[in-house]
Amino acid sequence: MHLTRRNFVLSTSALALGACFCPVALGKPRRLDEILDWNPLTEHTKAVINIALGGNTMIIANGGESLMIDAKFPYLGPVLYEDAASAGGSVSLVNTHHHGDHTGGNNAFVGKGKTFAHENAIEKIRNQIGNYRSGAEASVGQAVQNLKNNPRVLELSQQVAENAGQLSADDFVPESTLDQGDTIPVGDLIVDIHHFGAGHTDNDLVIHLKNENILHTGDLVFNGTHPFYDPSAGVTAKGWINSLNKMLELCDDDTIVVPGHGPVSGKDIIENMRSYHEQLIDNVQAEIDKGTSKEDTQQMSWPFMDGLQFEQIKGRAVGAVYDELSAE
Ligand SMILES: [Zn+2]
Repeated sequence: MHLTRRNFVLSTSALALGACFCPVALGKPRRLDEILDWNPLTEHTKAVINIALGGNTMIIANGGESLMIDAKFPYLGPVLYEDAASAGGSVSLVNTHHHGDHTGGNNAFVGKGKTFAHENAIEKIRNQIGNYRSGAEASVGQAVQNLKNNPRVLELSQQVAENAGQLSADDFVPESTLDQGDTIPVGDLIVDIHHFGAGHTDNDLVIHLKNENILHTGDLVFNGTHPFYDPSAGVTAKGWINSLNKMLELCDDDTIVVPGHGPVSGKDIIENMRSYHEQLIDNVQAEIDKGTSKEDTQQMSWPFMDGLQFEQIKGRAVGAVYDELSAE
């Protein structure tokens, strides 16, 4: 039986209410040999949903193969690789985009199996080697901060820190590129890859497992937080809205949507993200029309921004949209 979104929401709300947690209700039981806390989502998918651990990662496992979607931070790369290998023997990796909280663990995968990203991600990943190295050096502290009760994470983070000095850019760069309409087979399952143009970055990939009605959006969707705006990555609010509209065409009322950050939900979180960007554009345009400076506009807040996490990145979003609209 495939888990429908309604079952999932029902199960997680039962959990929130303090009901007995029964993993079977979430699809299939959690494996005891897993290092991280994987949430089973559908028959062949599971994800780590923990805002402290970087971008949400998902494994699609079938027929002795597993595909890892995103690789979090350097200290978690080998941990993710071990969990992917135990889910399905031969392990591949796809990056939803180049940001370091989605590619920091790439080196645990590159050279071992197939690795993929969008063409525009390749140079950006290569240029992040300094961040990957300093992230690797800080591994033990990060492991202690976030997963101090997990002995295997602590052990592997020690190894990552010891090897930090030897890391080179090539260790992190995926070997193959993907674009709109490409597919990746995982056993006899076909995974559809979409790239709808620039949005969160100029290299966003959306991962769709049509058979199980589940969509991993990468950072085109932030659920419960402000979205991260990175002008150096080619972010565009209008392109972002276009990508969200294209993603909604892939969804129905039962689609399970795994965002880049925040909890799993349905297509409502894609609609919420679209609404955020639409209101951001409208409000910033109104300030530009009034002659308000960029700096003053960045100090503003509007009701649609209330109650979201990552408050510290709000001003970046306002500033980037101000620049985008001013350039027209
Ligand atoms: Zn990102």
